[in-house]
Amino acid sequence: MRCTSEVYAVLLAAGLGTRMGQNKLALRFQGKTPLRLCYEAFLRSQCPPKGIVIAVSEQTRSEALALAAEDARVWVAQGGATRGASVCNALRALQTRGIKEGVVAIHDAARCLVPPAVIDAAVRGAQQNGCGVAAIPVRDTVRTQAGELFPREERLLMQTPQAFEFKRILSAYEAAEAGGLNETDDCAVYMAAGYAPHFTEGSIMNQKLTSPEDLPFFHAACAAQRLQRIGFGEDTHALVPGRRLVLGGVEIPYEKGLLGHSDADVLVHAVIDALLGAAALGDIGTHFPDAEERYRGISSLVLLRETAALLRENGFLLGNVDATIVAQKPKLVPYIATMRSNLAQCLGVDASEVSVKATTSEGMNDEGAGKCMTARAVCTLIKNG
Ligand code: MG
Repeated sequence: MRCTSEVYAVLLAAGLGTRMGQNKLALRFQGKTPLRLCYEAFLRSQCPPKGIVIAVSEQTRSEALALAAEDARVWVAQGGATRGASVCNALRALQTRGIKEGVVAIHDAARCLVPPAVIDAAVRGAQQNGCGVAAIPVRDTVRTQAGELFPREERLLMQTPQAFEFKRILSAYEAAEAGGLNETDDCAVYMAAGYAPHFTEGSIMNQKLTSPEDLPFFHAACAAQRLQRIGFGEDTHALVPGRRLVLGGVEIPYEKGLLGHSDADVLVHAVIDALLGAAALGDIGTHFPDAEERYRGISSLVLLRETAALLRENGFLLGNVDATIVAQKPKLVPYIATMRSNLAQCLGVDASEVSVKATTSEGMNDEGAGKCMTARAVCTLIKNG
């Protein structure tokens, strides 16, 4: 996406949130407030804002000031008596900073699960059409209290961000001020000034934190979105006569085996390195140095079990593992199921979370010449709290 104009953001954090029964913007999801989650989503968008104005109430002022102290692009504006008055104050704060042009994306801080792609679509809409309003189609059948049916095909649910050419939305808000600024979204103010709306793709994830019933959804969504980590591991061992061949804890009858200080289980070593890598906890060599006598000939499954315990101590849960062994011979297919169940048992997960595959290198490289075996693994970890 090309950023054809400068982008600014307005985050609205001045609402009272009466339906939550407490200050909803002080809640934390995976340790982060709604305001910080929104701020981070905007920074991850394709055209990160040059300036972010946070419209605050007395309750949210100190957090906004802390963000502003951290990042010079964050400015704080006093919120108003209505949502519209808060937007108006924030737009004037941008104007006071000398901003005359570009695009401004106005966003409710209570929509703190906003995917960066939704921000991108709204900003692109404003760059191309003067306005980009995040909206989603209606999924449910809609009736009035009296039972009258609305054709849902013609309806859209408005979300935020709603992005506009700065000049247009500022003049639209100034024109609307006399009417009391009671509109519940910016699109209404923009349309009242005679402009046509342009809707962009919102997301069902982009819900507005409103009532206590929303909390399980917000906690689960944050846990799923924010804290998955990926890891990669690779290992190679020489294939020599006079050694046992152990892969994934399975002893495989073959004329040669892998050379190493432990049982040289190349598959398990790659998996251990992927796990430690995902947690950024170093590598197999730092945790189980091959100079140490106690690791001589040890089953690598023991090391895998210790690695799993270390991850748990550091608050990580295993998502899944996928590994490939590169070996010319012997045929490994008959042993794959046992390898998977050995790994799964050590990791304390179901075998369906552990994938092991084998391939030859078609006779090429040292693996193809039967000089060595290589294993590669990726895994995901989930940070638990
Ligand atoms: Mg190794």
